[in-house]
Amino acid sequence: MGSCFKCLKPDPIQEELIGEPQKDHTEKHVHISLDLFTIEKVIGHGATGKVFLVTKKDTGQVYAMKACKKSDLEKRDQTSRMKLEREIMGLVDHPYIVQLRFAFQSSDKVYLVMDFVNGGELFFHLRRAKRFTEEKARFYGAELLLALHYLHSKGIIYRDLKPENILLDSDGHIRLTDFGISKKFFPDQHKTYTICGTPEYLAPEILKESGHDVEVDYWSLGILIYEMLAGQPPFLDKNEEKLFYKIVNKPAVMDPIFSAQACNLLTGLLKTDPKDRLANFQEVKNHSFFEGINWDALSMKEIKPPFKPKVTGPRDIRNFDKDITEDKTSDSECTPGLGSNKRLKNKYEGFTYDP
Ligand code: AMP
Repeated sequence: MGSCFKCLKPDPIQEELIGEPQKDHTEKHVHISLDLFTIEKVIGHGATGKVFLVTKKDTGQVYAMKACKKSDLEKRDQTSRMKLEREIMGLVDHPYIVQLRFAFQSSDKVYLVMDFVNGGELFFHLRRAKRFTEEKARFYGAELLLALHYLHSKGIIYRDLKPENILLDSDGHIRLTDFGISKKFFPDQHKTYTICGTPEYLAPEILKESGHDVEVDYWSLGILIYEMLAGQPPFLDKNEEKLFYKIVNKPAVMDPIFSAQACNLLTGLLKTDPKDRLANFQEVKNHSFFEGINWDALSMKEIKPPFKPKVTGPRDIRNFDKDITEDKTSDSECTPGLGSNKRLKNKYEGFTYDP
């Protein structure tokens, strides 16, 4: 799919929010650092850094660790975003969202240590299968809906829903990852104006810069369910300008293989005007497309997933792209550089997380 279209303009509300670092009560007595981990392999390339499979030496527990160079973040104006990603991840605790376990910094890098989710990206499985059955798409769509609703209830707009950011755990349940472009809002100050997201998944109001709200996540949910069912998103064009024109001006054309319920749901989720969009949690939940879902059981992670990824153990990386895992990138991508940079350290005050 197309390249990432990350935030193009500074976002005044966001800057304001992260301008006051949260008080960190752990930093004084915690010595969480890279020395406590053994780096095993590269497993992912993100927009802001690399993701490694690591083992915590004292417990033998495996984790995914995202390492980002502070100088790269600064060059790309992503320092505030990284701090916000850490802040948001520290706030969330949900069965369908990747859990942050530790965060720390060295003189030149910042690290986020998360649960290692090794069933692979939904993208990986979707590309293999070409398209999913409605039953499968319903299951993933329903788990995602719960994850998005949880985030909204915490005052967070996710803004980057796409198959690459949805991981499957070893049982086949989804785990949402990458809060690099998420956004916090205050109840009375919803609308934000930054252009964020991945081209094919961008909501029309983001492109029009007319201000956006939680409805953007319902739009992206529509694009995602559409892509799961059709094997490709509804708006496609190699030329980004033409792609954006289609998103803003053309209604999504339904694939003839979609059921009437799927067509109805997608038409509602993909309404160009956010005011007309089906973007109410209860209404989406009660839509006939989701008929038969036991929402109570789903929220307790009690529904058996339609597909169980092949994994032999917690360190199995077969579901990750070999081009990445066989990349002989040295650990230097992960290990701290020499010397210390007080200016950069101060920029990440309160970053440490070790509950
Ligand atoms: P990100 O920088 O968050 O976009 O991550 C880049 C890639 O790293 C993802 O697309 C995944 O393939 C992988 N990845 C990120 N977080 C995890 C995790 N917690 N467990 C397993 N793989 C992950």
